[in-house]
Amino acid sequence: MDFAYRNGALCADLVPLADIARRFGTPCYVYSRTAIERNYGEFSRALAGRNALVAYSVKANSNLAVLAVLALLGAGFDIVSGGELSRVLAAGGDARKILFSGVGKTEDEIAGALRAGVLCLNLESADELQRVATVAGRLGKRAPIAFRVNPDVDAKTHPYISTGLKQSKFGVPYAEAERLYRDASSIEQVKVVGIGCHIGSLMSSPGPFIDAAARIHALAERLQRAGINLSHIDLGGGFGVRYRDETPAPIAEFIDGALGVLPGRKEMLILDPGRSIVGNAGILLTRVEYVKRTDAKNFLVVDAAMNDLLRPALYGAWHEVRPVREAESGAATAVYDVVGPVCESADFLARDRTLAAHPGDLLAVMSAGAYAMSMSSNYNSRPRAAEVMVSGADARLVRRRESTEELYAAEEVPTW
Ligand SMILES: *Cc1c(COP(=O)(O)O)cnc(C)c1O
Repeated sequence: MDFAYRNGALCADLVPLADIARRFGTPCYVYSRTAIERNYGEFSRALAGRNALVAYSVKANSNLAVLAVLALLGAGFDIVSGGELSRVLAAGGDARKILFSGVGKTEDEIAGALRAGVLCLNLESADELQRVATVAGRLGKRAPIAFRVNPDVDAKTHPYISTGLKQSKFGVPYAEAERLYRDASSIEQVKVVGIGCHIGSLMSSPGPFIDAAARIHALAERLQRAGINLSHIDLGGGFGVRYRDETPAPIAEFIDGALGVLPGRKEMLILDPGRSIVGNAGILLTRVEYVKRTDAKNFLVVDAAMNDLLRPALYGAWHEVRPVREAESGAATAVYDVVGPVCESADFLARDRTLAAHPGDLLAVMSAGAYAMSMSSNYNSRPRAAEVMVSGADARLVRRRESTEELYAAEEVPTW
């Protein structure tokens, strides 16, 4: 019960969201530390007693306070840029538990990761292997590497977040992986330490995840026969959460299923969940500015928009919208689209919702902890929202609202 009504007031842990709006303003992201810890705990329990690492996928929510909570729990981190590396280190994350993923690492990013001493660079192409070897040679280091292998398994999810099929830009083709590993093991400047895959996001059933684990297991066996020994097997993230009425399988089912097809493997098992750690641990708090009725539709125009939460516009994603003050029974309701002030028809947070709402009312857009603030932008010159973290009865500002001056602080008007 991280976001629940208490005496008719929607609360984050023990703090009424109305109090948070009063103290910090709207739009505002609110995260529950309790929920993050509980979600992480599901992974650590399912992996108890094994040589394993949960490497939180930073792109899901990269606020320093979120990273710090996870670092304290002993989490590792899966990063996709030099910016994320910097954040993890600033939040107190352990470099030796960092995996550097992503298809387009620059020379500077590779050098930064090697200097920091990350656990592993997950490579996505033969070209990248050469580049990493060159950079490592220049720094007089040996780069720890794995290949992200594309197991050609359909995660059965939205095409934009499906990454494990042959046609995907991600990973090296399964059939070429063994040759790449042989090449890598002959290069002095790199050290082969692992193998990885990640087939997509929002998986609701463990079948595809287990299929991918079996394919990776078969490849690891072949590598072993070729004299290439690995220290870790990384099966990625992508575990689904409930947004509406989905019923994703418990994390333990994914993990137990995967362990079942990795018999006798001694390597450290790595998972890199993002959404399942933070997705349901956050909400977006917004205020109704206007109630607009037309012949065709009713709109609640709120102070949050697609620049704050892009998922509805980008994926047609569904987020529950709840009134912060529980509606009285018998209150007059209407069917509304909940829209922001941005000048795009795609600027909606929710469509066709039955709500009793008036100007000034607060609404909570639920399950907005993942791929929400981290995907936000300043489109329409909108300062980004504040972020607050709640722990029990304590609410703290973890990112202040941007000022309008900050929006153009890096810009200059040339004097010709
Ligand atoms: C994005 C990503 C993840 C996290 O996916 P979730 O669906 O948020 O769990 C894990 N691993 C890699 C390599 C990723 O790119």
